[in-house]
Amino acid sequence: MYSRDYNNPKLRKGVIRMDPDCAICHAPATLACECEAKGLEVAVRQAESRMMQSIYNDIRSVLLLVLPLLLAVS
Ligand SMILES: [Zn+2]
Repeated sequence: MYSRDYNNPKLRKGVIRMDPDCAICHAPATLACECEAKGLEVAVRQAESRMMQSIYNDIRSVLLLVLPLLLAVS
């Protein structure tokens, strides 16, 4: 299979490939835009803050329970 056959849809049957073009702005891979990298960064940051928020909420609820007791003792 020659590379020119690769782009022929009739000959490409059964070939699974990742689309190298940008999934966000559809720019060709050769442009090396940063959309996907930025998108991944944003997704990681969102997942992080979602996770940390529940931890902060846990800490806050424990502190609200414990602080009055600590203040009463001292
Ligand atoms: Zn892009």
